[in-house]
Amino acid sequence: MLNLRNFKSNGKLILKLSKDNIEYFINKTKRIIKYCDKHKLNLEVYYDNKMLNDKDLEKKLDKNIRDIITIMKAINIKDKYKRYEYIYDTVCSYLDELISTNYCDFKNDICIRDRLKGTNHKNGCCECLGRGKCKYLIDSVCTEKSCMACKLFTCKTLREKGIVHNLNDYVLIKYFFTNKQKDILRFSYWTPKEIILDRLVKNKYVRP
Ligand code: SF4
Ligand code: SF4
Repeated sequence: MLNLRNFKSNGKLILKLSKDNIEYFINKTKRIIKYCDKHKLNLEVYYDNKMLNDKDLEKKLDKNIRDIITIMKAINIKDKYKRYEYIYDTVCSYLDELISTNYCDFKNDICIRDRLKGTNHKNGCCECLGRGKCKYLIDSVCTEKSCMACKLFTCKTLREKGIVHNLNDYVLIKYFFTNKQKDILRFSYWTPKEIILDRLVKNKYVRP
């Protein structure tokens, strides 16, 4: 059984990882977060005897190594709002990379779902019957670039093509947030980042 006390030294928790144990420790992230927060420890991580830091994220590295660096960085941000903001921005940038492939396949402002339906409805799900057009959509461009729920959403047409975003695929979301906080991220559509972060910190959200 993992006893994190054995890895504690000089106000830090020090993990020495290799390809044989990195997944094991990633799976223990929840315990590591709890331990570091309780004892006010920073996390220091070595991989193959080399200390990791966030500059290594600029290199092409194995996913597990990238994941452990982001986990370390988040653990070492002790202010809750700032930690959540780092997680939020990091995951949004992963999602932006996927979205930049234009999987909604917009042509003349009409997305794949609506083209398949044979309608000329513009702006996809940023505009819909009942709710009308999102106030952040101006000249068919989203001016609110930081809404994670919008980035996560994929409609039935996309889901049938296998395009689905699962929050638990992101270690920063999987291990740092409760199920309730994951619902906040999933369902806070059309909402600026600052409001979502506030909901995450207060752990409070009433579904509309
Ligand atoms: S998620 Fe679906 S409905 Fe929304 S813009 Fe993309 S293809 Fe269109
Ligand atoms: S905030 Fe969401 S719904 Fe509004 S324009 Fe941007 S992507 Fe569309």
